[in-house]
Amino acid sequence: MKYFTGVDLGGTNTKIGILNENGEILIKKSIKTLSEKGIVITLKRIWQTIESLMDKKNIDKKNMCGIGIGIPGPVINQEIVGFFANFDWEVDINISKLMEKISGIQTKLENDVNMIAIGESMFGAGKGSASSITIALGTGIGGGIVINSKLISGINGAGGEIGHIKLVENGKLCGCGQKGCFEAYASATGIVREARSRLAINKKNLLYDSLKGNIEKLEAKDVFDCAKSGDEFSIEIVNYVGNYLGMGIGNLLNTINPEIIILSGGVALSGEILLEVVKKKLKQYALPITLKNLEIKLGELGNDAGIKGGIALFLTQ
Ligand SMILES: [Zn+2]
Repeated sequence: MKYFTGVDLGGTNTKIGILNENGEILIKKSIKTLSEKGIVITLKRIWQTIESLMDKKNIDKKNMCGIGIGIPGPVINQEIVGFFANFDWEVDINISKLMEKISGIQTKLENDVNMIAIGESMFGAGKGSASSITIALGTGIGGGIVINSKLISGINGAGGEIGHIKLVENGKLCGCGQKGCFEAYASATGIVREARSRLAINKKNLLYDSLKGNIEKLEAKDVFDCAKSGDEFSIEIVNYVGNYLGMGIGNLLNTINPEIIILSGGVALSGEILLEVVKKKLKQYALPITLKNLEIKLGELGNDAGIKGGIALFLTQ
């Protein structure tokens, strides 16, 4: 039996899992990333954890065939990181070579959302499909595009940065510094911003009452919960967000024409209420031919998606 390791390097925690060649996670552990200690020490701590997990499962190092690491930032050629979204680490370092030196195991890197996408594509909601787009709807919007079972990573590692597709000319300011991005409208952050600006004017609604007037406490989930309870004010916000989500996804469908759209991340958990609006709006924004046999599914792997992406990098590319 061959074994692989998937590592999901996060700003605070790093999740590490050992998988067999069928993509089943045999054992996993989360450690503090402690990125302030620098790249080399962090990679060494990750390798020590992998070794201890292999010990526990009696896995011989010679059967460990690859380590796949998901990185919060653009990754070039599965080995070099363009910049780190969360850490103060040096850029343009060949981290894959560095990890191979430390561990003696072949190592590949990929952007963390791309890892989730290839994991879902191979072992989760996209299993059996050759082309899918995974949209991670969280505080931002990330994406991963898989065509013919391969990730589109891009020449500079920015492939799948769908959150910055422009939907509105001179629209709302985005975290990237540009205006009118998909992410500024349909991420959790975008939803909260829209809801707060409406609450500042209209206070006669369930959403305001449920927050007891404390608008600062508002989260995207509150909007969906109140909409589900029939609050017209919140339903209007869901329709507003669903419209932009439909527009963004429609643009992607017209470009890629995938078999499946996989929605993951916190906002996706709002479930049917948002999905219903999106499906309706897609008819307005996507060419009818792209909707033929299209499946829109929620991600199935949750927090394990990144770890499973680790092995997918070795099995597919
Ligand atoms: Zn942007």
